[in-house]
Amino acid sequence: MKLLVASNNKKKLGELERILSDSGLSGVELLPLSAVEPYDEPVEDGRTFADNAVIKARAGAAATGLACVADDSGLSVDELNGMPGPLSARWSGGHGDDEANNRLLLGQMAHVPAARRGAAFVSVCALVTPDGQEHVVEGRWPGTLLEAPRGDNGFGYDPLFMPAGEDRSAAQMSPEEKNAVSHRGRALAQLVPVIAQLAQ
Ligand code: IMP
Repeated sequence: MKLLVASNNKKKLGELERILSDSGLSGVELLPLSAVEPYDEPVEDGRTFADNAVIKARAGAAATGLACVADDSGLSVDELNGMPGPLSARWSGGHGDDEANNRLLLGQMAHVPAARRGAAFVSVCALVTPDGQEHVVEGRWPGTLLEAPRGDNGFGYDPLFMPAGEDRSAAQMSPEEKNAVSHRGRALAQLVPVIAQLAQ
């Protein structure tokens, strides 16, 4: 079975490949966007992670006739009612300016005491089939927001996030350590039974 992964991010594709092979599932060929005829990617204008993941997966399935997986992820801060949330990549205005996003978030949270600094990385993955089946799963990686950046690994909000039970930030963990416990892996793992059923 061919399964489109609506992303050109090699790491995301690799992570799903690893999770599928660890689960012993064979016969599923994962295709990145670059392997299919180009199509107009939809505007991600949903209000929730799930809205955006479904928008992307529906567009991929409709354009290619293949089952399609898409994800949307970000940092959800309790004190900010779940924001930056789906706006994580462009919290400070432009798209993908990690340093500006982190500075703004730290400023907004500057006077918030430790007891109210709960946060979680969230990943929502949607799998949509061409015949209209839709499956949506969510992975959460809970922790707290630090008061200053720590560490140089990772990307995005990693230097500001301390996972529960850790005394290091996500940016002080190795990529392998982070992948083993992160929100994306937790979401993708829940798709394995769905993919197994489709592949039968
Ligand atoms: P995307 O949905 O994977 O493109 O992620 C959207 C945004 O959420 C990124 O630009 C980051 O700001 C943030 N984000 C998502 N996952 C992570 C993570 O594992 N570490 C740090 N930031 C993340």
